[in-house]
Order: sequence, then C-alpha cells, then structure tokens
Amino acid sequence: MKLFDSHCHLQDPRILARAPRLIELASNHGVVRFAVNGVHEKDWYLVKQMSEDFPCTVPNFGLHPWYVLDRSPDWFKTLKQLFEVTPTAAVGEIGLDKGSHGKKIDFDDQVQVFERQLELAKELNRPASVHCVRAFADVLGIMKSVGPFPCGVVLHSYLGSAEMVPQFAELGAYFSFSGFLMSMKESKAKRMLKAVPPERILLESDAPDALPKSELEPLIPLDSDSGSREESSSSDISGTESLNHPANVRPVLSYVARLLEMSTEELADRSYENAMRVFSF
Ligand SMILES: [Zn+2]
Repeated sequence: MKLFDSHCHLQDPRILARAPRLIELASNHGVVRFAVNGVHEKDWYLVKQMSEDFPCTVPNFGLHPWYVLDRSPDWFKTLKQLFEVTPTAAVGEIGLDKGSHGKKIDFDDQVQVFERQLELAKELNRPASVHCVRAFADVLGIMKSVGPFPCGVVLHSYLGSAEMVPQFAELGAYFSFSGFLMSMKESKAKRMLKAVPPERILLESDAPDALPKSELEPLIPLDSDSGSREESSSSDISGTESLNHPANVRPVLSYVARLLEMSTEELADRSYENAMRVFSF
C-alpha cells in the first residue's frame, strides 16, 4: 500500500530536527510522498532545501493567513523568484481564516494576499494548497472569480459542508482530509465525504498539527522507528504527545475508509493516484 501525505509541515521548528527520521518512519508505514507546505517567507528556504535533500517531498511555497502581517515589502517578488527556480513547486499554504486566531488578523489583508497567490497559481499552472477556517463562502467566491483551476486547488483539512462540495469540485478543487475530520460529527462527516467525487479525494497529516483522535483510530507510535535513538536532543519530539507526524496518515485512511464504507486498499490507491495527478503538474 502506498500513501501520499498531501499536506504537511516537515519544516516546522517543532519537528524539523526529526524530519529525516519521520520520513523514514512514514515510509515504513507506506506513506512515501509528502507535500511540504511553507507558511511564511522565513521558512520557504527550508522547504526548498528539504525538497533537494529528499526527492520524496514536493515543495509548496506560500504565505499563510496567520502570517500576512509579518510579510516584507518584497514578499511577492521573492515568492515569484522561488517559483522560477523551482519548477516542481506548488503554491501553499495560502488561505483565509476567521477562526479564533484568524479573526485577529485583518480580513481585507488576508483576502488581498490570498487572491494574489491564487492568481499566481493559476498563471503558473500549478496547484495551490488552501487553508480555510470558517470562511468557506469567501474562499468559494474568490475561487469563482479567479478560477477555474485545471491544475487543482487542494482544500486542505476540509471541514466544509456537503452542500458546498459540488461547487468547489466544479472549479477544480480536491478535498484533503486530516485528523481534524475526527472533530466533525460522524454523521455530518459521512454525508460530506460521500459528496466528494472519488477522483478528488486526498489524505494528509497536516503534521505537526491535526493529531488524529486515538480513541477513534490507533495512532502510529513514534517509538516504532527503531534504531538510532542516540541522536535525541532538546528538539526531540518524543514526550510531546500532541505533535503529529506523517505516518499518521494511516489512521486517517482507516477513519475515512470506514465512513465511506470502502476498503482501506481502495481508498489508499485512489487517494495516491489523485495526489500524483495534482502534484506532478
Ligand atoms: Zn497546514
């Protein structure tokens, strides 16, 4: 079985030092490819470096809505240059957020930054990975005005309604599911999942966030990466149980397959094939 982690942050300071081992652990569990998403100007070079060191990672460069206020005057120029020198890079993580953290950030600013990056993805014929918290109507409206997106837009950790799925799908959206799905009422999640076209479903860890609920699906323990434990340091993540890692796409797979009443093998194959289509533009 092969799985593609369609959205994660291996460059995140909480797990960066352990990234090589997390990639190895994940691949021992069948998770063999990773879309690594930058979130602000300061981590883009880390994402690029990782894609050079680990060809199994797909670099994504973008300015996340939480960091729009920290952008430098040259942010967009830097971003465009990065895409010029990195033909394999997708756009992400970009988006809109009206959640508890996002609502502290000026929404007009968020919209401006999101729109520019979405237009860039369209212009460059690359997919974009989109974060959306309580702003689905806004994201849909902007996607309608900028789109359609033949190269795909990944709605990462999708928690929108079943009713919105066809409207997004028509514009070229893919729907990516993480452990956050387990926070949605099961009957609602099931109805929404069943509305997603099979050729548009993706799975992700969103590591180091979105740890799946262990009471719903057994997690992959970090300890199962046997061997070289001597290199543990202050940045070691064992003991920090709330941090997620890409091998945990497995429990997400089991959960989504159960709700879809589909075998894990079939869902793994489908989602892998879909991710390969999106990320080999
Ligand atoms: Zn993310």
